[in-house]
Amino acid sequence: MKNFESENFDAMVKELDKELKKSGLTRREALKLLGIGSGALLLTPSESSAATRAEASSAKGKIVIVGGGAAGITVAAQLSNKLSNPDITLIAPNEIHLYQPGQTLIAAGLWKESDIQDKNANYMPSNVKWVKDKVAQFDAAGKKVVTSKGEAISYDYLVIATGIEYAYEKIEGLSADKIGSHGVASIYLNDLDKGTAVGAIKCWEQLQAFGDKAKKEKVVGLFSDGLTPIKCGGAPKKIQYLTDGYLRKLGGTARDNATLDFYTPGEKMFGVPEFHDAIVKQYEARKMKFFYSHKLKAVDTDKQVAIFEKTSKVQGKYDELLKEYEMIEQKENVEIKFDLLHVVPPMKAPEVVKNSDFSFKKGSAAGFGAVEVDKHTLQHLRYKEVFGIGDVIGVPVGKTGGSVRKQAPVLVENLIAVMEGKEPKAQYHGYTVCPLITGYGTVMMAEFDYNMKVTPSFPLDATQERWIWWLLKVYMLKPMYFMGMLKGRA
Ligand SMILES: Cc1cc2nc3c(=O)[nH]c(=O)nc-3n(C[C@H](O)[C@H](O)[C@H](O)COP(=O)(O)OP(=O)(O)OC[C@H]3O[C@@H](n4cnc5c(N)ncnc54)[C@H](O)[C@@H]3O)c2cc1C
Repeated sequence: MKNFESENFDAMVKELDKELKKSGLTRREALKLLGIGSGALLLTPSESSAATRAEASSAKGKIVIVGGGAAGITVAAQLSNKLSNPDITLIAPNEIHLYQPGQTLIAAGLWKESDIQDKNANYMPSNVKWVKDKVAQFDAAGKKVVTSKGEAISYDYLVIATGIEYAYEKIEGLSADKIGSHGVASIYLNDLDKGTAVGAIKCWEQLQAFGDKAKKEKVVGLFSDGLTPIKCGGAPKKIQYLTDGYLRKLGGTARDNATLDFYTPGEKMFGVPEFHDAIVKQYEARKMKFFYSHKLKAVDTDKQVAIFEKTSKVQGKYDELLKEYEMIEQKENVEIKFDLLHVVPPMKAPEVVKNSDFSFKKGSAAGFGAVEVDKHTLQHLRYKEVFGIGDVIGVPVGKTGGSVRKQAPVLVENLIAVMEGKEPKAQYHGYTVCPLITGYGTVMMAEFDYNMKVTPSFPLDATQERWIWWLLKVYMLKPMYFMGMLKGRA
């Protein structure tokens, strides 16, 4: 295995200063704007908690948090800082915390699995009781949860932060164990309970095999898009851009020999018009094609054939009353032989959440099993003592770690308000961030909200691919995540 080592931290700082000079900001102002909370990051843990404790609430009540990923740990850290007498139990099985945004960089041959792993114990606040188990049942009426080992744990307030799961088997012919051979790859595949990222490792192996073949002959690379709401909606495109970049790095005829096609069930490349337009131009510049209304239906891994269901509209009978032709939906199967197929698994809430009283009972979010929260306050719509956060909640956008960073302070403020007998007033407006890697060395920082409005943290044109965002992605976001967000400081 080879790793690309090129950029370094000093280069990043220089580049950041250069970009900021153009926009008239100091580095400190820029970090603040980005919401990194540079001040907080620079504080030692004791200074930081002393600062927050000065305004701590004396509200009482037993809080149970379910899930020990990005959202669960961040909420635990912030609550333990903001309550003077915290009574918090966190239920999560994972000894290892996985920094999932780094899976893309593993798949690109830049990082190793150990680069995205750390001990969860390093981030568990000392005043939080950690139950190393999984919740197997929620009892909404009895205000308790039961763990897989049979322990019943009661609560006054509950925070659901279980994240979401994959269902590769919903694509005919596929299952998680088929990922990583016969040219089938998926950067998503991981085991959050164990803290491993096997899909990303195997994706890099598949990418190298694809590159070796492309050096000698014509090859076809297919990239499918999400069939359900997915976490990090940009990831399916990031891996296509990186495949393009990897083949170019190989030189010779490797890139010219490869067809790289994206297949989405949707009808645009991004929900935000500005980013859609930018991506279309980027694809054209890289000679990558994209096809709308194509849903990955089945995969024959032995024959290396993907079957997409293509939906189109054909003209039917003329309607005299409406004075127009009726449009009839038509579906057909399109079979394509591939050398590399990158798969996005269908995603869903864990069954235990879906089967609980806390999930949506109608609409598309019901099939997904999402937690039914108010999209602004994150409070459950029917159970006022319950809150939800992260990938598992049924809100229109926001399945990213960056969203969790914005959701956590809202949830914490509202939960404490409810504990104090007040109305929850803090609001989350759907902030979502996708550092869309467009090649080895470039990122377009796509930030937006519920209104599908661009919400850039910097006064820079958000639709530009920049080296500086690459440096941020590769060098800064991980320390910000572990040392800022999970410690409840940013
Ligand atoms: C390939 C990839 C690339 C990504 N790239 C980015 C990116 O560039 N930027 C970005 O911001 N985000 C990115 N993300 C998304 C980001 O990682 C998630 O949005 C974020 O981790 C969501 O946090 P969460 O706490 O809701 O879920 P998770 O972090 O997934 O954690 C859920 C936790 O709950 C636990 N759990 C599950 N069921 C139970 C149960 N029954 N009882 C107790 N515990 C349970 C699990 O063990 C897990 O530890 C990416 C994700 C992937 C997979």
